[in-house]
Amino acid sequence: MLKKLFFPLLLIFLLSCDKDGDLNFFSVEQDKEFGEQVKTEIESSGEYNLMSRSAYPEAYSHLDRITNTILNSGEVQHLDNFNWEVFLIDEDVLNAFATPGGKLYVYTGLIKYLETEDQLAGVMGHEIAHSDKRHSTDALTRQYGFQLLLEIILGENQQLLKDIAGSLASLQYSRKNESEADETSVEYLGNTIYNCAGAAGFFEKMIEEGSTGGTPEFLSTHPNPDNRVEAIYEKADEENCSTETSNNSSQYQDFQNSLP
Ligand SMILES: [Zn+2]
Repeated sequence: MLKKLFFPLLLIFLLSCDKDGDLNFFSVEQDKEFGEQVKTEIESSGEYNLMSRSAYPEAYSHLDRITNTILNSGEVQHLDNFNWEVFLIDEDVLNAFATPGGKLYVYTGLIKYLETEDQLAGVMGHEIAHSDKRHSTDALTRQYGFQLLLEIILGENQQLLKDIAGSLASLQYSRKNESEADETSVEYLGNTIYNCAGAAGFFEKMIEEGSTGGTPEFLSTHPNPDNRVEAIYEKADEENCSTETSNNSSQYQDFQNSLP
């Protein structure tokens, strides 16, 4: 009986609407807690070939420089609430992903594939936006239901945590959230040294080359590259931010060369 009463009450407390009217059943604290749990699971599962910070200090110094530039753009809403961290995965995969609460994962395949730091910053901005706008918990709630996710946060469903940690790279976001992440990437980068339409560069390169350069995993979770390139440039126009390539090509080459 108590349990029956407890759950609806809990729902009322936790149910909140963001300003766009999306339902998000999680509190900001729960996003954070969830991110820590997924991070721990990713580290212990051995399913991802994580690169350690101690073994690759140079690669991480570049990745941190780019990530911190975006985080410190003044546009990241949960900059102080989330414990932002970024990790490298050494696999030939064209992808990056984010957990709720600000844990970011970037594949070395993506860094080697891209040609400029602007392009990588664009993709990083997109992933930071998924965490910051709390799309990740929206998407997970749609896929698994709130109650099952709550069990994870309460430490009662270790198996599901394992499943989620193992499949986070292919988590499906709604189109609306994808567009919002693209646009938010422009807003973040608009306040940095980077070409604010950097995210478009990634899609443009993929369209140009088809999928011959490898399996474009990012496209399976991030569809409609044509429309998205246009939308990103429209947003850049609207924001009146620079779409010039930033002058740091040698740094980006150093970054690529520091990877295994
Ligand atoms: Zn996305």
